[in-house]
Amino acid sequence: MFQNFDAPKAPVRGRNRLDAVRALMHETKLDALLVPHADEQRNEYLPANAERLAWLSGFTGSAGEAIVTIDQAILFVDGRYTLQAADQVDPDLWQVESLIDNPAHKWLAAHPSDITTIGYNPWLHTANEVGRLQSAADKTGAVLRALDGDLIDNAWNDQPAQPRQPVRIQPFEQAGKLTTQKLEDMDAALLSADAELCVVTDPSSICWLFNIRGSDVAHTPITLAHAILRRGELPLLFIASEKLDIETKAFLNQVSYLHEPGELPTKLTELAQNAPVMLDPDLAAYAFTRLVEEAGGTVIKAADPARLPRAIKNDVEIEGARTAHLRDAAAITSYLAWLDEQKIGSLDEITAAKKLESFRSEMAGNMPLRDIAFDTISGSGPNGAIVHYRVTQNSNRTLEEGELYLSDSGGQYQDGTTDITRTIAIGTPSREQRRAFTLVLRGHIAIALARFPKGTRGMDLDPLARMPLWQHGMDYAHGTGHGVGSYLSVHEGPQSISRRGAQELLPGMILSNEPGYYRAGEFGIRIENLVLVREASDIQDGDIAMMGFETLTLAPIDQRLIDPALMSDDELHWLNAYHGWVRRKLEPLVSDETNDWLRRATEPMLKDLPPASA
Ligand code: ZN
Ligand code: ZN
Repeated sequence: MFQNFDAPKAPVRGRNRLDAVRALMHETKLDALLVPHADEQRNEYLPANAERLAWLSGFTGSAGEAIVTIDQAILFVDGRYTLQAADQVDPDLWQVESLIDNPAHKWLAAHPSDITTIGYNPWLHTANEVGRLQSAADKTGAVLRALDGDLIDNAWNDQPAQPRQPVRIQPFEQAGKLTTQKLEDMDAALLSADAELCVVTDPSSICWLFNIRGSDVAHTPITLAHAILRRGELPLLFIASEKLDIETKAFLNQVSYLHEPGELPTKLTELAQNAPVMLDPDLAAYAFTRLVEEAGGTVIKAADPARLPRAIKNDVEIEGARTAHLRDAAAITSYLAWLDEQKIGSLDEITAAKKLESFRSEMAGNMPLRDIAFDTISGSGPNGAIVHYRVTQNSNRTLEEGELYLSDSGGQYQDGTTDITRTIAIGTPSREQRRAFTLVLRGHIAIALARFPKGTRGMDLDPLARMPLWQHGMDYAHGTGHGVGSYLSVHEGPQSISRRGAQELLPGMILSNEPGYYRAGEFGIRIENLVLVREASDIQDGDIAMMGFETLTLAPIDQRLIDPALMSDDELHWLNAYHGWVRRKLEPLVSDETNDWLRRATEPMLKDLPPASA
């Protein structure tokens, strides 16, 4: 199993830990210390040694920060984690605040009197974050002090070591582009930014650039490493040599100078003297800004130059994505067929999630499942209405008659990353469930069928997915789509379809198309396929070129939840064409039993006939 279903740990009665940290604060002459949920490289999943906030507070959620003062400890979490935080921290020691309405920098600005020196670890905050903290400190006259070393690390006796998992080469057959070619593109980016150096800090960018993968963190096949790109010269790659075998070492030696991670500050100081250095203000640790400036270099604030080329998949990566999706679809569809066979009331959320993972693991072939892409969201009834639900032994519930079951999952294969959500009727759905599902489906189809000219951004398309819901006074509180990596992070920038999606959509980008609807305490609905941006060749006699999406994900959409009377002819046509394609592609890949189910599940729907279940 690539996941576990343990309940969040009981509160750590952490007075000793807080006391130890406060003693260090006293020695260092600090009135306040910032403790973010972050590692040095902004990873979505933190390595165990970077779980400093969890160690200190007991809170194990995936986002948050804390301020420790001499007599207060405040934990900041977003709405998803309010209840969990209250359960996990010791209420005698901690107070919980909103990370959204009143984050640490705002809280500091409002508490001027007793806080004159605020300490932080510059390796755990980006330049933009430090900018916000600095303006808060300026407001109150406090001093914001970058610390050498981390006070939590000093107090944490049994802190785990940095992960050192082996590195694998991502072969040209899957990567589709040589590192030397990618480095040439980086050189051009440095030239146009007038930079001599660029520190690449995002492990996804490093892995993409050097065609390597690893398993230092859960669910994202990255290895922890940094690179210094140099205009016109080979880059320096900082990676623990114990992670490299003879083959990977030889491979990387051809395209870089290899160094141990500990050498990074010294090397950067040497190279940055009088040099213009590119740093991403939202990704790079602020410590890099300090190193560059102390060395007499100048910082050029610019987006990580690997982000956009990484997002635009090449033909080999696109073909890999199609193959990975086909393999994944065979597993998903076998799972959906199995799910339908189960007696109502006999299945719970954890059993269902485990079964899905085992279907994926069994779809071995030459490209076995390397990991799941994230912890499976397996939510029935009211649990389905919790957007980022993670089932645990405590929350686990049985799938009951009349409920909706939401399953959001993904796989990591060497040729691609998948992410799919299906919402399934358990027994007979209500009118209201069918109406809401059909509206969500119409939004999904609107994205699938969208045609748009060059220059269109994700934020321009986002309303298309919401309009059918908006027309009925409904909406959902998350983005419509996120970027997805190629055997990398399942949440990849800069592309997205959301209110904040300012990146122009370009052919080769992969995104999710996942509108939803959530009725608290009752049910949740999401329909998610991954889509590829490509030129639209199906328009005749148009004036200008258009782009559109090719859907990559294949799996039946539950027709028991669709009310065809609410759909247009074009929408029904899309649905029937999609199901026809799913059936043709999957028929050769699944068992006879699954095929029997698949044929029924993909039967064409007609407007003037009652739905199959009625
Ligand atoms: Zn998903
Ligand atoms: Zn997704």
